[in-house]
Amino acid sequence: MYLRYAKRLLTETDLRLLWKLTWNFAFKGAIAIQKHKRRLARGDFFPPFIYISIINSCNLRCQGCWVDVAAKQEKIEIDAISRLIRESNEQGNYFFGIVGGEPFMHADILEIFRRHPNCYFQVFTNGHFITDEVAAELRKCGNVTPLISVEGSEIVSDERRGGEAVLNKTMEGIRNCTKHNIVTGVCTSVCKTNLDDLVNETWADRLIELGVLYMWYHTYRPMGPEASPELALSPEEQLRIRQFVVDMRVKKPIAIIDAYYDAEGQALCPAATGFTHHISPWGDIEPCPIVQFAKESIYDDRPLADTFNNSQFLTDFRNLAATHTRGCIVLERPDLLHELTVLHGAKDTTARKTAAAELLAMTPRTSQYNRAKEIPEKSWAYRFAKRHFFNDFGAYDAPRDPLA
Ligand code: SF4
Repeated sequence: MYLRYAKRLLTETDLRLLWKLTWNFAFKGAIAIQKHKRRLARGDFFPPFIYISIINSCNLRCQGCWVDVAAKQEKIEIDAISRLIRESNEQGNYFFGIVGGEPFMHADILEIFRRHPNCYFQVFTNGHFITDEVAAELRKCGNVTPLISVEGSEIVSDERRGGEAVLNKTMEGIRNCTKHNIVTGVCTSVCKTNLDDLVNETWADRLIELGVLYMWYHTYRPMGPEASPELALSPEEQLRIRQFVVDMRVKKPIAIIDAYYDAEGQALCPAATGFTHHISPWGDIEPCPIVQFAKESIYDDRPLADTFNNSQFLTDFRNLAATHTRGCIVLERPDLLHELTVLHGAKDTTARKTAAAELLAMTPRTSQYNRAKEIPEKSWAYRFAKRHFFNDFGAYDAPRDPLA
């Protein structure tokens, strides 16, 4: 399987793009993680990966979306994005997740990639704005991988995403990317209505045929004003996805990402481990995209490294999450998270100003942490990668409960 995948990488993408992926993402990413470990060892903190929501606007209206997509447009201007990237480069970070809303609705998105050729960008997108021309530009930049979300069959896609012909437009975006040999990924926020359609070998084979080089299964988070909690997965369904992913990693010539399990199959939260934090379209520095509370901003008048290193709110969030679960504190203990926001007087970073009420209205539920069953990686390659570059970095060893 590994040789088949290597052949796909060498023949289905452009060698210059493959070099950018290898150097800007893999090599520099590995260095960023080593720097993160050294910072942690000396008591300093700066996340090795940052997710930036560059705009709140979107052309779709998905169930469970926490972003104020219908609110007045707010975006981070290109110069502020560049300052954020340069300050992160100083800490050894060269990989950035670009999220939204729909990032391709930001007029300067291509300029971000052009201005920072030494970085690598993963763009979370619905694919609707990736025309043939845009795909050609992305290829020219070479330092971008679109991660395009597919949320179900034609009918389910329209229902899940509050639009018309949603799947067709998304598939067109995927085809434009693979036609230009761009390193392209497809992700799904797996829920009750798309689990059977998209968590199976037939779908994986279809993506391989389309020229897609990696997949990512997120677990549906019932968040925001239209949370649709009935779509959330049961513990058995979450285990089914985990087992499928572990099995396909040794069978299919396509990479499958996850951000919730280490090599031994132990659950983790990438925000609790400090692996990543999130910047909102308003510039707020949040623990993660669905924790819409903050005490700091990228517009604060001090170096970003100081801001991250001295944020008591982010430190307490990491400790709180690590004290109470290896899974998702938002799903499992929204009550404790609310208590923490009150303790810090953290700002509700939403335009709708209902994040606190939404947290209080949430019904606690299970997340990726299944205390009874852990499924270790079968693949030696994923075991190696996770043991060295993606684990809990000791976050669960002796956390201090900030609410104690
Ligand atoms: S808090 Fe939950 S949604 Fe956020 S990174 Fe952790 S597990 Fe994921």
